[in-house]
Amino acid sequence: MSCIFCKIVNDEIPSKKIFENDKVLIIEDINPVAKVHLLIISKVHIESANQLDEDNIDIIKDMFLAAKQVAIELNIDKAGYRLINNCGINGGQAVKHLHIHLLGGENLGEKLIWR
Ligand code: AMP
Ligand code: ZN
Repeated sequence: MSCIFCKIVNDEIPSKKIFENDKVLIIEDINPVAKVHLLIISKVHIESANQLDEDNIDIIKDMFLAAKQVAIELNIDKAGYRLINNCGINGGQAVKHLHIHLLGGENLGEKLIWR
């Protein structure tokens, strides 16, 4: 499997892990665009939001709950943060493995974050 996030999940590529449970891994983004920029990654390989269905949708619950827990641990929950999922070419999705960006640690304002 040549998927970079699968390799990170399998410890074949190093990453800065922030949180891990049996379903979700949260790492620091290698190229941050905000003071806090984390990636909430499903451990199972799902290509994008387009591949979600009734059988695998529970992963979204796990990903959001993990994001919230880490936001609390980093003490950015009350100030707020932004969760972003890029899907497909027009969505700007570079890595074809389901992930949600967590951006925060500063006021993102109305800046439409993408690069
Ligand atoms: P997207 O454009 O939504 O697919 O976002 C992919 C994100 O993965 C980008 O923000 C990259 O900076 C990040 N990224 C790519 N490779 C790595 C890596 N090895 N470790 C951490 N983040 C990465
Ligand atoms: Zn993958």
